[in-house]
Amino acid sequence: MTAQIIDGKKMAEGIRQDIAQKIQTRLHQGKLAPGLATVLVGNDPASQSYVRSKHKACEQVGMHSFSYELAASATQQEVEALVQSLNNDVRVNGILVQLPLPKGLDEERILNKISINKDVDGFHPLNIGRLAQKGREPIFVPCTPSGVMYMLEQTLSTLDGKQAVVVGRSNIVGMPVALLLLRANATVTICHSHTTDLAAVVRMGDIVVAAIGKPEMIRGSWIKPGAVVIDVGINRVEDKTREKGYRMVGDVAFEEAKEVAAFISPVPGGVGPMTIAMLLSNTYHAAELV
Ligand code: NDP
Repeated sequence: MTAQIIDGKKMAEGIRQDIAQKIQTRLHQGKLAPGLATVLVGNDPASQSYVRSKHKACEQVGMHSFSYELAASATQQEVEALVQSLNNDVRVNGILVQLPLPKGLDEERILNKISINKDVDGFHPLNIGRLAQKGREPIFVPCTPSGVMYMLEQTLSTLDGKQAVVVGRSNIVGMPVALLLLRANATVTICHSHTTDLAAVVRMGDIVVAAIGKPEMIRGSWIKPGAVVIDVGINRVEDKTREKGYRMVGDVAFEEAKEVAAFISPVPGGVGPMTIAMLLSNTYHAAELV
């Protein structure tokens, strides 16, 4: 059996087109286009590249974007003052502080400063807290986890009662994905670096979400036949046959796993594009709250 590919690029394109149309409707109604502000502290090349792609995506759908860059030496007070000024800026509907922040800055305090109504990354403790509580609704759900759920919902008629295995428990991916799966009534197992016999646990999953950051760690033989596999990992591996000398791979050994799974998301072209689409969706939602 060869799995069907879950085409995140195509799904993301559909979401972007829908947002672009809704923004046009807002403009016809005399409302402002939604605005996203990004805060980048320091000069990490990967973070710079992520921020650039977020601005480009905003432009493509007709959203405003505002770029704020601070030196790696910026103080806690400077970053918090910037966030506070963006909270008060009516042009800005969403505030995204690019993570990770340079060492020495208190990430939790900075995320706490973002107005909960502008928390388009969904990392404010109140939003995460609501996600974890039954009967409470977060205003925003973190973008990558929300993209993973969209892909699963488009693939399966229901997640209810499914055995879901999430590998990884980070604040930004693994844990919120697990909370969302639980809200969708899946039975969720969360694995991490202390899990014993990971292969046996993964093999239980009707749904497997891999968010580890280790190239092709999950082998095809670990996958339950007919499972749905979502690969969040983005890893650069050396490849001398490529012009750049490297290629990007996920946390799942794709070629092996696609022979066993029923559905699988590729890397690149899977979760990555969905993350940005969900950021645009959250920013649109933030503008509609005003
Ligand atoms: P983190 O490093 O924060 O978390 C990795 C998780 O994997 C941890 O919970 C860790 O366990 C677990 N882990 C590490 N080694 C093992 C192991 N041998 N067995 C089982 N579990 C293990 O990473 P992130 O969550 O931030 O990112 C994960 C991956 O997703 C990365 O490749 C990242 O680049 C990618 N990513 C992709 C995005 C996208 O848009 N597609 C967005 C964000 C991330 P423990 O908690 O015990 O340390």
